[in-house]
Amino acid sequence: MTATIIDGKAVARAAIERVKAGSTAFTQANGFPPGLAVVLVGEDPASQVYVASKGKMAKECGFHSVQHTLPADTGQDELLALIAKLNADPAIHGILVQLPLPKHLDERTTIAALDPAKDVDGLHDVSIGRLASGQVEKTLVPCTPKGCMELIDTAHPEGISGFSAVVVGRSNLVGRPVAALLQHANATVTIAHSRTRDLAQLCRSADILVAAIGRPEFIKGDWVKPGATVIDVGINRIDAPEKGEGKTRLVGDVDFNAAAVVAGAITPVPGGVGPMTIAMLMANTLRAAEQIVAG
Ligand code: NDP
Repeated sequence: MTATIIDGKAVARAAIERVKAGSTAFTQANGFPPGLAVVLVGEDPASQVYVASKGKMAKECGFHSVQHTLPADTGQDELLALIAKLNADPAIHGILVQLPLPKHLDERTTIAALDPAKDVDGLHDVSIGRLASGQVEKTLVPCTPKGCMELIDTAHPEGISGFSAVVVGRSNLVGRPVAALLQHANATVTIAHSRTRDLAQLCRSADILVAAIGRPEFIKGDWVKPGATVIDVGINRIDAPEKGEGKTRLVGDVDFNAAAVVAGAITPVPGGVGPMTIAMLMANTLRAAEQIVAG
């Protein structure tokens, strides 16, 4: 194996330590802590786990942390009324609505109701517009893409200006915002998707290759340019009969073992991009609080 393994857990821990210090300074300066409200509708078990870990981390960062759990049959108006209340609450600086919502609720209508200043997930149209128009300093950047950039920074502390970057995946949650951030960092960016022709060849041209597809080990070792930095966003659970009957394991969108022989630096799954997402949510909450207080 030749690639440097980018340790997402360590980078995330360091980011959390910075947030804790910033949170302490914020509280001392203002007499109240940054506040994060997490809204969960329904009882999806995976969402419950995510929401609980976000609340726990927020407390660890010294934030005022509240969770609103609404029943699965909550109406759109009721959800919008809660968001209006949180928008107006001076103790709350970040609002996160856990997705996906139950089918009868409209995600875009819900996100559009957030005060963009409190949109710590970076999914409001105003946030997306600011990011797309290069106003990165003025907006709250979606957490997973922000985490990808911090990991790239660890591999390239001198920056990535002029590098060629390929992002495989064009979702609003990951692919598109990652591409915008790479472009902002002066990389030359190509976005690939399910209709892209000769994906393998395109990937081979990338100094920075970001995979956000949702298909286990889809990117092969010989698609990776020698020395490239590979950021694997994918989280896929696959059968692992070698661990025993019915056992499973997590893999990314990249064939890690094959790619690690060729790449210069690569993120593992788990322990790469995954831990960064929650750390960046905390960083966004602190940033939102600082910006709101600054007016
Ligand atoms: P989406 O399903 O929303 O998007 C997947 C993208 O991959 C689409 O743009 C799709 O193209 C593209 N794609 C699908 N098949 C192919 C193919 N054969 N060739 C090329 N492109 C293809 O997924 P997300 O962006 O939400 O998530 C991607 C992965 O990242 C998932 O594994 C998810 O679990 C993981 N994830 C991890 C997070 C973390 O914290 N680490 C956070 C969020 C997501 P098209 O647009 O043409 O359909």
